[in-house]
Amino acid sequence: MTVRINDILDEVSAYIPDADKRIIEKTYVFSARVHQGQTRLSGEPYLNHPLEVAYIITQMHLDVAAIAAALLHDTIEDSLTSLEDIKQEFGDEISLLVGGLTKISRIHFQSTEEEQAENFRKMLLAMSKDLRIFLIKLADRLHNMRTLQYHKRQSQIRIARETLDIYAPLANRLGIHWLQIELEELSLAYLEPEAYKTLKTELDAKAKEKEGYLKEIIAKIQTELDKEHVNADVKWRIKHVYSVYQKLKKQGIAFEGVHDVLGIRIIVNNMEDCYRVLGIIHSMWKPIQSRIKDFIAMPKENMYQSLHTTVFGPLGQRIEIQIRTKKMDYIANEGIASHWRYKEGAKISEHDGEKLSWLRQLLEWQQELKDPREFLQSVKIDLFPDEVYVFTPKGDVLRFPAGATPLDFAYSVHTELGHQCTGAKINGQIVPLRYRLKSGDVVEIMRSSKQHPGKDWLRIAKTTRAKTKIRSWLRTQEREQSIALGKEIYEKKLKSLHIKHDVDDLLAEFSFKKAEDLFAAIGFGRISINQVIHRVVPEQKTVARTRAPQKKVDSSGITVKGVEGLLVRFAKCCRPIPGDVVEGFITRGRGITVHRRDCPYVADIDPQRLVPVEWETDVSESHEIEFSVLCKDKPGMLGSITAIIGGQDINITKLKANSLPNGSSICNFRVMVKNLSELENLFDKVRRLSGVEKIERLLAS
Ligand code: MN
Repeated sequence: MTVRINDILDEVSAYIPDADKRIIEKTYVFSARVHQGQTRLSGEPYLNHPLEVAYIITQMHLDVAAIAAALLHDTIEDSLTSLEDIKQEFGDEISLLVGGLTKISRIHFQSTEEEQAENFRKMLLAMSKDLRIFLIKLADRLHNMRTLQYHKRQSQIRIARETLDIYAPLANRLGIHWLQIELEELSLAYLEPEAYKTLKTELDAKAKEKEGYLKEIIAKIQTELDKEHVNADVKWRIKHVYSVYQKLKKQGIAFEGVHDVLGIRIIVNNMEDCYRVLGIIHSMWKPIQSRIKDFIAMPKENMYQSLHTTVFGPLGQRIEIQIRTKKMDYIANEGIASHWRYKEGAKISEHDGEKLSWLRQLLEWQQELKDPREFLQSVKIDLFPDEVYVFTPKGDVLRFPAGATPLDFAYSVHTELGHQCTGAKINGQIVPLRYRLKSGDVVEIMRSSKQHPGKDWLRIAKTTRAKTKIRSWLRTQEREQSIALGKEIYEKKLKSLHIKHDVDDLLAEFSFKKAEDLFAAIGFGRISINQVIHRVVPEQKTVARTRAPQKKVDSSGITVKGVEGLLVRFAKCCRPIPGDVVEGFITRGRGITVHRRDCPYVADIDPQRLVPVEWETDVSESHEIEFSVLCKDKPGMLGSITAIIGGQDINITKLKANSLPNGSSICNFRVMVKNLSELENLFDKVRRLSGVEKIERLLAS
């Protein structure tokens, strides 16, 4: 049956008695004129589509402007009509909605992940202007899915995939259950036609088989409720194909293994009755403790409220039971649309939209996240409602995505608390940062003013909020450190060459806007100081040449934790090699110097200037170290030692031997080694030589 404009007008009048039907009629005429002669793939007049979409909008009980916009939603896209025309004819409110819809309709998700993310961002932005835009878009998508059979197989798959990936999860997130279900069922039917058919048949058969049993159960419940004078509507329901499909896929089981495809729903008048009914049910049948869920006290983020329990029924079979009020049931189906539906005398207000904090947060984040892929990733994580609920020590409930850690908790309370988080006490027990929160945990964050975020925190944190804060802290730190460093390097170099130069004159040469940017580049090691000096005094080529070529930063074999790309050099005093326990020291003007932790110099360093450093694996560069051998002063001794060193393929860069009065000799060697194990291996071999009394690595020469 095709929808006629009168059906829409009838529907509107039913929930808005004094609706201004003239506007709807006027938009209808306008749309009919624009779409005249156009047909859909099905062969029917194009106008049927906006009519169907507008009809779905009346099913959501949205206001007249939304219905008008639904009728006009494709007029700009498919014709020569302009948004300006719409604005002149129908005013600001309707043209805002139509404009938003037109923008969204130009977005296509089937592209690279990056584009997809960018498009998603655009869609959210359009939505954020007015949520009705998105509700109309969902209605549009629903009708397109209902008429997908006219498309070619390839575009069926593309559109169904996009619906399942983007629109159904968003409908879920907005709590519009009925629409989510229909989108999922239709998508699956196109994506996995065989699996869908089989499952559907099996579900129907199961429903038939169980019908009698369930009716019996319902009668029993009804009798008990009557005894307790509880007014309730008891129904049974069957699971949707898509949710069973997902369950089978997730658990890797056959259909026979799924027991809870049928359930019972009890609708009562008020919240107190929900809990009373739960008590009555539990007195009738034994509940499975872990399956009792109170979404009334802890509503889901999409506003869903209900009590859930699973009991062992009369024949020992599991029965899933949901208990909720009429209002909760309504919201469970309509979600955000229930807040946007037309209310008599009350204009739809911004305030209603505020209830959907998730959407606001999402939009906030999208401004902070610069990498679109990262954004998409976080949206995808946030879209899927695997959530954990935990308590603050005061008993407040906080909600997190599954896998969230104390870091997420800390950042959700306060950014500073996040930065200083060292761990948490969960139910009184100390746990590390990477502990995964579980529902019901009481979380107390431990903090220290000495604590700072590290790069590894990005892997520990799960929520977008925490990651964004960590990343922004790291970026600021990195930049501040390198600006200071770069500035010192620059000034010191000029001083050593006895030149004065205004740094601002150099900016254009390196295409920087501010001195800070140039300093940061020097500090990061992106530009060497010699490159800069060369621009200051081109004739002073010798300065650049006589010095050893600047080592590439990434070949130093060491990374500075949390601060990548800084100039790194190795201390001459202790000459650390890979494998040594090391500390980084922020020098004044020469980047980071790496010392062995047992270097006496380290003990005197201001702890404020120490930074954690780590060896990179698989580094093949050699480092110079110094060691001394105490041995018998006999002919051939020195030769034997150097032979061993050479036999290990180790280069000697310096050698000094001194005879002692007691008939011993001290030989000092400087050699190039790759790492600690190579050095230890060498020491073992030298130690085994007869005549060698002692071998030790020297800290300072
Ligand atoms: Mn459309």
